[in-house]
Amino acid sequence: MGIIVQKYGGSSVATPERIKQVASRIQKRVEEGDSLVIVVSAMGKSTDQLIQLAQEIDQTPSEREMDMLLATGEQVSIAMLAIALNKLGVPAVSLTGWQAGILTEAAHGAARILEIDAKSIEGYLSTGNVVIVAGFQGVSENGGITTLGRGGSDTTAVALAATLQADRCEIYTDVDGIYTTDPRVVTSARKLEHISYDEMLELANLGAGVLHPRSVECGKLFGVPILVGSSFVDEVGTLVTEGIQMIIESDRFVAGIAADDEVARITVEGLPNVVTTLSTLFKLLAESHINVDIIITNLIDSDHSTVSFTIAEKDLAKTLSVLEKQKESLNFETLHFEEGLAKVSIVGSGMISHYGVAAQMFELLSSGGIEIKMVSTSEIKISTVIAREHVEKAVQRLHEGFHLE
Ligand code: ADP
Ligand code: ASP
Ligand code: MG
Repeated sequence: MGIIVQKYGGSSVATPERIKQVASRIQKRVEEGDSLVIVVSAMGKSTDQLIQLAQEIDQTPSEREMDMLLATGEQVSIAMLAIALNKLGVPAVSLTGWQAGILTEAAHGAARILEIDAKSIEGYLSTGNVVIVAGFQGVSENGGITTLGRGGSDTTAVALAATLQADRCEIYTDVDGIYTTDPRVVTSARKLEHISYDEMLELANLGAGVLHPRSVECGKLFGVPILVGSSFVDEVGTLVTEGIQMIIESDRFVAGIAADDEVARITVEGLPNVVTTLSTLFKLLAESHINVDIIITNLIDSDHSTVSFTIAEKDLAKTLSVLEKQKESLNFETLHFEEGLAKVSIVGSGMISHYGVAAQMFELLSSGGIEIKMVSTSEIKISTVIAREHVEKAVQRLHEGFHLE
C-alpha cells in the first residue's frame, strides 16, 4: 500500500483528550494497512499564546527569535501524539522540521520550503513506524529554525506528500470539508464534493482560511490530491484536484466566496507623471516587505497622477512611514489612508465562459446599500473592496444571489 500523509490542525489536537482521539483514528488506519506520515499543528491556540508571550517583552521582537519560539508549539504536539500512539501500542516517532529534512529559505516568519530530504522519514516508515512531523517549521541552509507563515502546517503536509509520492494528502480540521463560503459566516453554505486547484488557490489567497494558499499551489504543482475533512466527525470531505469541477458542474460558474476583513487602502495624490514613478514607489514598498494587492492609477492632469492601492491592515503604519520618509524623493503632494475595509471575492472557473457575472455581483451589492470602493478581476475571480461593517451582509447576499445554497 502507498503512503498517506495526514495533517491535523490546532483544534484537532487542542487537548490531551483530542490527541488521544486522533491517535485512535490513526491506529485504525494503521490496522487497515496504511503507511502514515502525520503532520500536526501546535495544540489549540498555543501559537497565539506564544506570540502574546513575546509581546509582553517586545512588540516587535526579532523574527529569528520568534521562529525559535513559535516552533516549540509544534514540538509539543508531535511528542504528545507520539506518546498517545505508543500508549496504544502503535510504533510512532516524532520529528521536528529539521529532523525531517525540511530545508527552507532563511526568510523568518514566511519561509518557503526549498527541498525535503526524506531519508529519515523513509527509514522510520520502513521499520513500521507512524512518522509524526512538526508542521509549519523547517531549517535554513545556515542552520536557523524557520517557520512558513501562519497556517503553514497545511503546506508542510502537502510538500511531504509530494516528496514521498504519497497517494493523497488528507487535511483534517474543524469543518467537514470545503464549503461554498465560510460555514461559520453563512449557515446555508454548501459543502463541495470537489474543487479544482485553481479555484481553491484563488479562494485561499482571497481569505478562505481553510487551506494555506501555498499548500494548494504545491498540490497543483506536484499533482497531489488533497482531501479536506473533519477530525471530529466521520463525513465525506472535499477533494481538491485538477479541474473535475468544470466537468461535473459545468453550469455552475461561481464555485465559492471568500472574504478578507483586514484591508486598508492608501491613496498617493499628485505624483509626477514620469515613467519611473510607479516602479520607484512599489519597489520601495517591496524592499520593506509590504505586500500590495489591488492597484488603481488615475491621471489627474498632464503632469500629475494618483495611485490607490490596498494592503493588509497590519502593514498600514509601516507603509505610511515608508512613504512619508520618501515624500521628497517620490515628489507626491498628499497621502490619504482608509482602514476598516474588507475584500469580498467570488471565484469560479466557469466565469471564463459566462458574461455578466461582474454586473450581477455589483447589482447584488449595490441593491443592499453596499458601496464598492475598488474592484479587481482575473479570469476566474472578481474582488470588491467594501467597508468592513458590510462584510457578512455582502457574503450572504452574494451567496444567495449566485444560488450557492
Ligand atoms: P486548522 O487549525 O485545522 O488548520 P483553520 O482554522 O485554519 O483550521 O481552518 C478551518 C476554518 O476555515 C473553519 O473553521 C472555517 O471557519 C474556515 N473557513 C473559511 N472559509 C471556508 C470555506 N470556504 N470552507 C470551509 N471552511 C472555511
Ligand atoms: N501553528 C501554526 C499557526 O497557528 C501553524 C498552523 O497551525 O498551521 O499558524
Ligand atoms: Mg489552518
